[in-house]
Amino acid sequence: MHVIMFSTRPYDREYFEAAAAKSPHQFTYIEAKLNKETAALAQGYPAVCVFVNDQVDADVLEVLHAGGTRFIVLRCAGYNNVDLATAARYGMQVARVPAYSPHAVAEHAVAMILCLNRRIHRAYVRVREGNFSLNGLIGFDLAGKTVGVVGTGAIGTVFCRIMQGFDCKVIAYDVKPNDACRGLGVEYVELDRLWADSDIISLHCPLTPATRHLINAKAIARMRRGVMLINTSRGAVIDTPALIEALKRGHVGYVGLDVYEEEAGVFFEDLSNEVIPDDLLARLLTFPNVLITGHQGFLTHEALTAIAETTIRNLTELENRGTCANCLAVEG
Ligand code: NAD
Repeated sequence: MHVIMFSTRPYDREYFEAAAAKSPHQFTYIEAKLNKETAALAQGYPAVCVFVNDQVDADVLEVLHAGGTRFIVLRCAGYNNVDLATAARYGMQVARVPAYSPHAVAEHAVAMILCLNRRIHRAYVRVREGNFSLNGLIGFDLAGKTVGVVGTGAIGTVFCRIMQGFDCKVIAYDVKPNDACRGLGVEYVELDRLWADSDIISLHCPLTPATRHLINAKAIARMRRGVMLINTSRGAVIDTPALIEALKRGHVGYVGLDVYEEEAGVFFEDLSNEVIPDDLLARLLTFPNVLITGHQGFLTHEALTAIAETTIRNLTELENRGTCANCLAVEG
């Protein structure tokens, strides 16, 4: 099947070329993001491969449908950027990669915790400048601290296990608690208690209407002073202006973000020669206790291999059967 891949970066191409070599599929790789202006590039392609910041809304789907596209394959797990109801109306199938390496993202969240706590990001810069002073670099023992996890699916479960390895007490909230976590000794609690009791809060839920701005001024007010917030899920789970206010007051002590509400058009781009147009992002970058990475939680060899292989399998199933095990159903 002929597939056009939007938002292609060199690592996507490398891993997809390796995985597609023995498959019947041919990929056309383009750098452009999928949106209303670029959708016409997919004219004549039965399948379109997209990533987290590609826009697959009603306008884009209309153009894709008119151009003969029948299948949308996401090379990611989250699908908040796809209008599933409209895709279904056009008879288009949407498939994703539900789990590629939960370890990749969970380990990145842990890396952010360790970096922020022990101020590795600041120590690295200081030492390179010949400054070996330790002033301002005091951290805390993770052992004995309470970690609150929102969303205990594939990634959240691995994250709980790792944090227990640091001798942390792990509590969690999920609309569907799972037995694997209960078996690990994770205690499920209501959100209010999670906010109030956690020294560190890590988000591993999808972005849905229920989780949009889950971390807002009201939730933050319930949290401990000095709390550490880690978000590797989706940016809009946090209300950014409320977070900035709380950072300014010192109520939130540390923030690790791998995702950002307005990351589209900024993340995955080299803007080092340009002025950052987003004032909220620019403000976040001024705090010494904020660590931002550009949506790289998934970026491990194992995850990229699994993403490419599963996407190729999804395409083969779609071509042969018209549907596939990883197809998304319309919700609600
Ligand atoms: P998953 O589907 O296995 O788990 C998500 C969990 O969240 C489920 O247990 C679900 O019941 C729970 N949930 C749903 N609604 C909730 C709510 N309102 N409150 C609390 N919990 C809720 O997904 P996963 O593979 O663990 O991935 C989690 C999220 O991580 C994805 O949706 C995606 O947004 C994000 N992600 C980020 C990266 C990255 O590179 N930073 C990579 C992959 C996934």
